Amino acid sequence: MPITHRKDTRPVRVGDLVIGGSNKVVIQSMTTTKTHDVEATVAEIERLEEAGCQVVRVACPDERAADAISEIKKRINIPLVVDIHFDYKLALKAIEGGADKIRINPGNIGKRWKVEAVVNAAKAKGVPIRIGVNAGSLEKRILQKYGFPTAEGMVESALHHIQILEELDFHDIIVSLKASDVRLAIDAYEKAAEQISYPLHLGITESGTQFAGTVKSSAGLGAILNKGIGSTMRISLSADPVEEVKVGRELLKSFALADNAATLISCPTCGRIEIDLISIANEVEEYISTIKAPIKVAVLGCAVNGPGEAREADIGIAGARGEGLLFRHGEIIRKVPEETMVDELKKEVDRIAEEYFAE
Ligand code: SF4
Repeated sequence: MPITHRKDTRPVRVGDLVIGGSNKVVIQSMTTTKTHDVEATVAEIERLEEAGCQVVRVACPDERAADAISEIKKRINIPLVVDIHFDYKLALKAIEGGADKIRINPGNIGKRWKVEAVVNAAKAKGVPIRIGVNAGSLEKRILQKYGFPTAEGMVESALHHIQILEELDFHDIIVSLKASDVRLAIDAYEKAAEQISYPLHLGITESGTQFAGTVKSSAGLGAILNKGIGSTMRISLSADPVEEVKVGRELLKSFALADNAATLISCPTCGRIEIDLISIANEVEEYISTIKAPIKVAVLGCAVNGPGEAREADIGIAGARGEGLLFRHGEIIRKVPEETMVDELKKEVDRIAEEYFAE
């Protein structure tokens, strides 16, 4: 099993980031606005950036969208990926407009000279290409061979597109193999990791609404990430794309793959509860969402089991009758009145985050 795939891939530069090599997993999302509506698109990208999105993709279905790329690019701070289907002219325009990466399948562009035109333009500007294989749109030839979408067929499709680029001496490649069937996606990424040394972009496509899609994406991508596979990922949800970023960050934190985000530990509550834990936990979660240090903050309903069980927390609070107990790494440091305990906790969180950055 290639458990080190993530560390063994080719580093591919995307704007000021590098995907693959030994770099951290990069979180992406995609805008939902009409790309030609520059104002709306930039506003959405700003919200995504603030939520922690590191690379953003926009759809480029027509000339109007392609024409908007240069203006969007000027106004945002994270690398911009332009998603193109088939049309080499749109790809050329996107590259010309300053796209940091394009997503296009070379095997779908058509005549050889068109493929060469796109590849030469991408090469000249150092723009990588993501090959996006999707179980739902596999080539006829592959579907006929396997009968239905299979992991083998998806990898074969990816290798076909890769070969076209490699023949043109192009190697700044990232590959995705998305499926909406979780087990098919896991299988495809595992097989791809055995045969492909380019960074893999993870995703469970059409995963559903915010709740169901979060569960499905986490189940699938969690299994893949845990095998050491995946250099970048996008959670796909039928929801505000900011939610995709939040889920992605939480998922990376679960596998200790994010060093730029704080984590909340909170108990499920039970009959021993001494404080209004659920609202406090939500308030603290919101507060720490902008903290870029990998600290752990605990909020526990009572002091019976809490501090000991949340020993890994850098700082935490446990409810006690009419007061809160602040603790660090399982040791109680002081008592605080119930009315001020959340503010006290926030101050401690800020202090620990400052200490982290001062180190
Ligand atoms: Fe119950 Fe206390 Fe454990 Fe929370 S920390 S689940 S309130 S025993």
